[in-house]
Amino acid sequence: MISRILFTSVCTAILAAAIVSPAAAQQQRPATEVTKVENTEGVYIWRNGNHQAMFIVTKDGVIATDPVSYGRPTGGQQYLDAIKKVTDKPVKYLIYSHHHFDHIAGGQVFKAAGARVIAHKNATARLKVLKDPHTVMPDESIGDKKVITLGGTTLELHYLGLNHSDSTLVMRLPKEKIIFVVDTIPVGSFPGRGFIDIYPLETEDFIKKVIAMDWERLIPGHPGAPNGRLGTKKDAQDVLTLMQEASAEMKKLGQDGKCWDTAEKEFKMPKYASWPGYENGLQFVARRYCGLWGRGT
Ligand SMILES: [Zn+2]
Repeated sequence: MISRILFTSVCTAILAAAIVSPAAAQQQRPATEVTKVENTEGVYIWRNGNHQAMFIVTKDGVIATDPVSYGRPTGGQQYLDAIKKVTDKPVKYLIYSHHHFDHIAGGQVFKAAGARVIAHKNATARLKVLKDPHTVMPDESIGDKKVITLGGTTLELHYLGLNHSDSTLVMRLPKEKIIFVVDTIPVGSFPGRGFIDIYPLETEDFIKKVIAMDWERLIPGHPGAPNGRLGTKKDAQDVLTLMQEASAEMKKLGQDGKCWDTAEKEFKMPKYASWPGYENGLQFVARRYCGLWGRGT
């Protein structure tokens, strides 16, 4: 009798665990989080909601990236506070991955704390025009390459041409063989809304250049699927293949004179139907390639 009750309660517990939906599991995640990247001395990920950034702690100070605080007025301070829990060293640099506000708003507190804000020159030019009240201007605007060394850590900043934006910096830690690339190469999920203004043909070249670099792990600007994983060269190759297939498919429809409405309705990528974000993302991919092959833009 006792064993039967025990058996029943164990079954109930298993059942309860099994019916927790992915959405509920999502809600159980804390809103913000610091994660140390495995097998590194001082590489961390700061996550705020569905956005994330890399920061590196060295013996002489911290190199931070993207404040990720769009629509989150306290996000920059939370990020800085989280870094202070890891180290008492000052933040020396804040580097913008590209000019989009959802990734770079909220850097005021870093600048006030003495960090030098660095971005690609196209980001600076854009920010000068838009004057977003929540985004601080860079102190330094760079061209194709800059190497930062701090406390024994080397971080390379590379501009590899047009892609998801015209201001994306690929950040590479040569010793750790880690890169931080935001938005252009989603890890394990179908491209989403951010695809609407991508430079489609140039992005294929960009991804090929990224794959040709020496690295093993990719930290994305949005948590990788599943479980916030990091990316690999296979993920980069998968995104490149997806784009090439989408482009070829829409090229036929576009050159048949079917853009916009008919082509966008007919465009499907069943091979990717199981990827997270497929249902919602398909329309943005369709719209962008219809623009390219049906309009020439
Ligand atoms: Zn972006």
